[in-house]
Amino acid sequence: MQNINIYDFTGKKALIRVDFNVPLDKNFEVTDNTRIKAAIQTIKKVILGGGSVILMSHLGRPKGKVNEDMSLKHILPALQALLPGVNIKFSADCIGSGAKENAATLKPGEVLMLENLRFYKEEEAGDEEFSKKLASLGDVYINDAFGTAHRAHASTAIIARFFGKNKMFGYLMSDEIKNIDRVIKSYEKPFTAIIGGSKVSDKVGIIENLLQKADNVLIGGAMAYTFIKAAGGNIGKSKTEDDKLDLARMLIQKAKDKNVGLFLPIDSLAADNFSNEADIKIENSDNISADRMGLDIGPKAIETYKNVLMKSKTILWNGPMGVFEWSNFENGTKEIAFAVADATSLGAFSLIGGGDSVAAINKFNLESRVSYVSTGGGAMLEYLEGISLPGIEVIRE
Ligand code: AMP
Repeated sequence: MQNINIYDFTGKKALIRVDFNVPLDKNFEVTDNTRIKAAIQTIKKVILGGGSVILMSHLGRPKGKVNEDMSLKHILPALQALLPGVNIKFSADCIGSGAKENAATLKPGEVLMLENLRFYKEEEAGDEEFSKKLASLGDVYINDAFGTAHRAHASTAIIARFFGKNKMFGYLMSDEIKNIDRVIKSYEKPFTAIIGGSKVSDKVGIIENLLQKADNVLIGGAMAYTFIKAAGGNIGKSKTEDDKLDLARMLIQKAKDKNVGLFLPIDSLAADNFSNEADIKIENSDNISADRMGLDIGPKAIETYKNVLMKSKTILWNGPMGVFEWSNFENGTKEIAFAVADATSLGAFSLIGGGDSVAAINKFNLESRVSYVSTGGGAMLEYLEGISLPGIEVIRE
């Protein structure tokens, strides 16, 4: 593998796998350019180094068929706005003679965006022939799509086989790896993980791995009620996964065995129906009225969690504490977000990851007050679980 910082891009065509899977509005305009912005440093490095750039990405789930609604041509204005003065071309097919011709005539300093890779079913299938055709367009391969690093797709993994040593991570990818490694490999103690969201089943792997490393695991969101029910509490009509009670019990036992503080919210905002307008009572989470459901962590839980966070040196946060999309149930997530920011000001290293926790950090304008916000949802979770990601392995091989 090569290092992007010292690689000589003069006259080279760099094929860069980026993650431009951005949200579009009904006029096909990009509503959040975060992912495009995240790739700019790598693109500029190649251009300023005398090379040209060929960008490949997926957008949405076209399931192997051409679908104009998911064409990457829609993102070109947003890309151009971030690369003023750069000549950006578009290839209406990601492989084939058109793509070959476009790539062959690309001049140093220019950028070519290929059409949505997932218009071909071969992309997600990791097809070797398709990978070879993509690979033939460039001289050097850069993977900068952390969001898809956990997939062994043609453009994220298989393609690397055709580049010998001429393959490397882009800046976004290496930043992600460095920051997540700081949390799971070279963490300073006390290490506290905050895990929330809707389902225990999505988070078992990560909780199990964290129980080997963390000092405290703070649980929030709907998944807390599965744990509380498993421990014998009355949770009323709160959302639970009844088939995961044994799993929750196993995790509670593992935490005890490992001497890890597994915290469940002491109290909850108990609502009489699933809506922002519901009547709210503060109740102990293990004694929620039969006709109510916990939709956020309560004030005592917030206080307890804050105390733990303020004493932590490493913090990992994944998943909201309640139905934070609704104003009446956002407080737990908001208070935890501010506590993570405050702990960071006191010297803790904090990593936020997963769509909803990132959305919460953005909602409360705390991006600049935490150490690192990861762009990869599923990829980050798998990496935190200790699973090796194909998109990373193929570059290191
Ligand atoms: P996840 O996709 O697993 O990260 O879960 C996030 C979703 O869980 C968000 O849409 C929240 O609104 C939802 N959520 C969080 N806490 C609760 C709760 N106590 N009851 C129902 N849904 C919740």
